[in-house]
Amino acid sequence: MSLTAFLHSRYGRGFASRTEIEAHHAAAFRRFRAQVMPRSPFYRGMAELPLEDLPRMDKARLMANFSAINTCGIDHDTAMRTAIRAETGRDFRPLIGEVSVGLSTGTSGQRGLFLATPRERRLWAAIMLGRYWPELWRRQRVAFFMRADNALYRSLSNALVRFEFFDLLLPFEEHLSALAGLNPSVLIAPARILAMLAERQVAGRISLSPRRVISVAETLSPDDAALIGQAFRIRVDQVYQATEGVLAMTCRAGNLHLNERWLRIDRDVIDRATGAFCPVIHDFTRESLPILNHRLDDVLIPDPDPCPCGCASQRIARIEGREDDILWWASAAGPRMVTSEAIRTAIACLPQPLRDYRVIQRGRGLHIWLDDAASGADTALGASLAGLARQMGCQLPELAFHRGLPPESDAKRRRIRVEPDAIAPR
Ligand SMILES: [Zn+2]
Repeated sequence: MSLTAFLHSRYGRGFASRTEIEAHHAAAFRRFRAQVMPRSPFYRGMAELPLEDLPRMDKARLMANFSAINTCGIDHDTAMRTAIRAETGRDFRPLIGEVSVGLSTGTSGQRGLFLATPRERRLWAAIMLGRYWPELWRRQRVAFFMRADNALYRSLSNALVRFEFFDLLLPFEEHLSALAGLNPSVLIAPARILAMLAERQVAGRISLSPRRVISVAETLSPDDAALIGQAFRIRVDQVYQATEGVLAMTCRAGNLHLNERWLRIDRDVIDRATGAFCPVIHDFTRESLPILNHRLDDVLIPDPDPCPCGCASQRIARIEGREDDILWWASAAGPRMVTSEAIRTAIACLPQPLRDYRVIQRGRGLHIWLDDAASGADTALGASLAGLARQMGCQLPELAFHRGLPPESDAKRRRIRVEPDAIAPR
């Protein structure tokens, strides 16, 4: 394991200032330009360019140029075949040479390939173990729910860890007895799975007592964080990780910080009022498949306050979800961003109790399902949203209230979302 990364992650206080972060980035990218870019046919001639002048990438462009970008000489089709074979056979050690290959669908549903060298796997393990290990001297039992296992995650297994993988493609209920048998001390899963486990825990179907609960790979809504925290009587930590890299992590104080130790993260600001931005990332730890000037479509809301933990890495108030899921309401000055947080607050402040809800923007209308709500909830929420629109100087969309919940699969359990045919301004 990479000892320095481990110690940094476990005991490091983090960066003391923005100046220190910039100096760290300058040194890291000097090394990256000298040692990594020349090994990539795509980037070989660009090592002198400022990072922001490199070709702007996204998942589609990265995949289209995969063969030329990676530094391992791995051809796209070979990698894809290897990854698909591993997925369909549920054999999770897909390696080309010593490079592991993984497949991700990501939130956008587009298939992405990723690579990890042994060094990258060790680095990932070091930071995870360092940051989130409950007690180093005790053997830990880790339950890890993932869509597919991968050598990346296997690198966590050693004498100190009993590591059990739970395949998300198998029926969820089938995992419950194995999970109870393991009684994990560390529970790692995507947010929606943690929420489903929390519901079972509350209902008395399982009785787990994890020392750490870590939400990975997708955004954790405040509703789900509260539900999970109450069910397991522990704070939920969050590792916000895309295929493209580990973007942010919860600190000891429980706040999300950008992972500026590994990445330089520029901002494509989409809303001035909140500072909401889509991250444009440059990762100097990824040597197999360089990720440079790469725009993600997740929307992050920065938190300008310094964190009590003392780390100067940018604090993130929350991850708002995908850019496609932001609500935009019309105003005289053009469309204004309405965050799902604002809607959530309006619902949380209702005097009437309700069991659950969904809010879906469809075309120019806002469809609202209030499940098992006391009478008067529609009127109260309508008034509250009208107040929100007035406060923001926007026009309130047409509201349509429904009973119960819309039919949906568990995969789509986001409470507030926008459908593709909704107005997409900007
Ligand atoms: Zn902090």
